[in-house]
Amino acid sequence: MKIIRFRYVLLAFACQIVVCCCLGAALFSPWLLIPCGLALATFFWVDKRYLRCPCCGGHNGLDKLFLAKRRPFHCVHCWERIIVK
Ligand SMILES: [Zn+2]
Repeated sequence: MKIIRFRYVLLAFACQIVVCCCLGAALFSPWLLIPCGLALATFFWVDKRYLRCPCCGGHNGLDKLFLAKRRPFHCVHCWERIIVK
């Protein structure tokens, strides 16, 4: 049984929100592009390291992983069952 930790899904989700907020606010203060870049880098790192399918390394959408906490979820690439908890 393959497991993806839900806290990493949440972390990636939080990074996306930070990136969106900083990008919007950067229109007024360009310094906010720095935390925006950091959040973006964190997002890609977490995504690459923790959110890939443990079997095939394929990418499943963050929204799908989010919903997978409540219902059975299969990797879109290799159809292996993945548990998100
Ligand atoms: Zn897979």
